[in-house]
Amino acid sequence: CGIVGYIGNEDARDILLKGLSNLEYRGYDSAGIALLNADGVHIFKEKGRIAVLEKSVDPAVHATLGIGHTRWATHGEPNKRNAHPHQSASGRFTLVHNGVIENYSQLKASYLAGVTMKSETDTEVVVQLIEHFANDGLSTEAAMRKTLKLLDGSYALALLDAEDSDILYVAKNKSPLLIGLGDGFNVVASDATAMIQQTKQYVELMDEEVVELKRDSYTIMDLDGNVKTRAPYTVSFDA
Ligand code: GLU
Repeated sequence: CGIVGYIGNEDARDILLKGLSNLEYRGYDSAGIALLNADGVHIFKEKGRIAVLEKSVDPAVHATLGIGHTRWATHGEPNKRNAHPHQSASGRFTLVHNGVIENYSQLKASYLAGVTMKSETDTEVVVQLIEHFANDGLSTEAAMRKTLKLLDGSYALALLDAEDSDILYVAKNKSPLLIGLGDGFNVVASDATAMIQQTKQYVELMDEEVVELKRDSYTIMDLDGNVKTRAPYTVSFDA
């Protein structure tokens, strides 16, 4: 299973699909991507191989911001409906997640009684909670931190907000995730092999950190919103 994300000036689609192919070795049962452009969010997902997903992606959709996922199902059978990305009720937020949310059913009962779920995954609870708190008036970043504080379990995640095509939101806890830095673009990936064609400069993330990734900057925060500074390192192998 794996995660990739791209925010820059090039076409995100092929970069994401290539990144997901590089993560195939980790194992998966389904795959998907979400592309955000001026028309909104476009989601493509399929059960099975990335080659199957690739055929289902509309070549006419161009975007410079997007996220991708390979799923290893833990909650909800491997099918198209349960494949990631998952969206919030209004469609504003789109999420990919690796890991397991142990307390998802309690969270659903406590906060999301009025929300009709679109999948059987633990992951959907996370994206629905973010929208729930955003509807209360919190910024996306604050809604995300509030949600993450409630979670028991593991997560590497990447989030799109359809209302802001200049930020890719990222977070991790007990699941691997790295930021990659480029010239006019930035990426996120489960490991460096996914994005080694794009960059060799990476920034490590610690558990319970959130990142606001823009085309030319990154801001790392803890779950209380305190900003952390961290220098990148260079990966030296060729791929
Ligand atoms: N628990 C999530 C699901 O079953 C994510 C699984 C994964 O890590 O790919 O959809």
